[in-house]
Amino acid sequence: MRILVTGGAGFIGSALVRHLIRNTAHEVLNLDALTYAGTLSALAPVADDPRYRFVRADVRDPIAVARAIHDFRPQVITHLAAESHVDRSIDGPAAFVETNVVGTFTMLNAACAYWQGLGAAERAAFRFHHISTDEVFGSLGDTGRFTETTPYDPRSPYSASKAASDHLVSAWGHTYGLPVIVTNCSNNYGPYHFPEKMIPLMIVKALGGETLPVYGRGENVRDWLFVEDHVRALRTVFERGEPGRRYNIGGNAERRNIDVVHTLCTILDRLHPRADGRSYAGQIGFVTDRPGHDLRYAIDATRIRDELCWVPEESFESGLEKTVRWYLANQEWWRPILAERAADQRRGLGMSPNQLFSEPR
Ligand code: NAD
Repeated sequence: MRILVTGGAGFIGSALVRHLIRNTAHEVLNLDALTYAGTLSALAPVADDPRYRFVRADVRDPIAVARAIHDFRPQVITHLAAESHVDRSIDGPAAFVETNVVGTFTMLNAACAYWQGLGAAERAAFRFHHISTDEVFGSLGDTGRFTETTPYDPRSPYSASKAASDHLVSAWGHTYGLPVIVTNCSNNYGPYHFPEKMIPLMIVKALGGETLPVYGRGENVRDWLFVEDHVRALRTVFERGEPGRRYNIGGNAERRNIDVVHTLCTILDRLHPRADGRSYAGQIGFVTDRPGHDLRYAIDATRIRDELCWVPEESFESGLEKTVRWYLANQEWWRPILAERAADQRRGLGMSPNQLFSEPR
């Protein structure tokens, strides 16, 4: 198949592209604007493969998007391009509305025009697969899990923009008959994760001897999904999922933030002990909580397990150890990103200091 992946230079998108090139015969076109979050170095392992192509384009640009679709003639569009960081959405929501809402609208319009021009068999086989988040469902108390029928209750500018885009995708399915699928996943972690998100941030700060900044008292609970499990799920959904259906994807790994950081410290103590022999846990510090911080997210992934036979392969502990090993072995990937970010901050272009203390998405 020919798969057009938007946001393929981002964390999940690049994992999907690497997975597809390494494990399938599909051809992949990566359409990405290369914002601060996009790194082509994450695609270096597959960049020379003749089945991989890259086009630098903005999902808000209708002409560039239409041209890419008509030239590549995809059977599947997996739409991941987005502004994805909650803290940034609090300081600057406009980019989230533009990319996540207007960008998704632009992708849908272009995909629909292309799809309407296909023959009947190709129209039936086509999929527009939209990648969304569990944050659209709001915050849980101590019990319960989000299912595919949980009502939407987004509470941050980020989650509101994702919720709006999900509704647009559903509307294009209902109104125009475009074969759409929406997946809502929990917090991803793994290799090539931009070091502003909680797990890589903690690893690089630990190695730098800095404070490990935990929001509030670290009581917030997230359901952690290893990115390589997630991309297997995405492939399963666009190859075998039913158009018009939604699928939740989670890792069955609910953890409080403070427990995540302690587990990380234990792994680092074993793999890369501090020179003074003390535990990295001594670097943990608590910082002012994020405004409107949702308490708990948890995904019920029964549908994708029962209908499509997908289950996560990694436990949280095994996935986290793989992640820590990767960050230790691939410092040439993340150190330049940190250096560039520090230079941006010196020029006044970076995030506010509080945003450095950032958590999940
Ligand atoms: P990311 O921030 O790592 O990557 C986003 C990519 O999109 C980058 O390569 C960036 O250059 C590109 N992009 C941004 N704006 C663009 C534009 N206007 N035009 C074209 N490209 C643009 O994000 P991620 O963590 O890989 O997330 C991918 C998708 O999955 C997003 O839609 C996000 O909402 C969703 N999601 C992520 C998580 C998570 O834990 N990371 C969880 C749930 C859902």
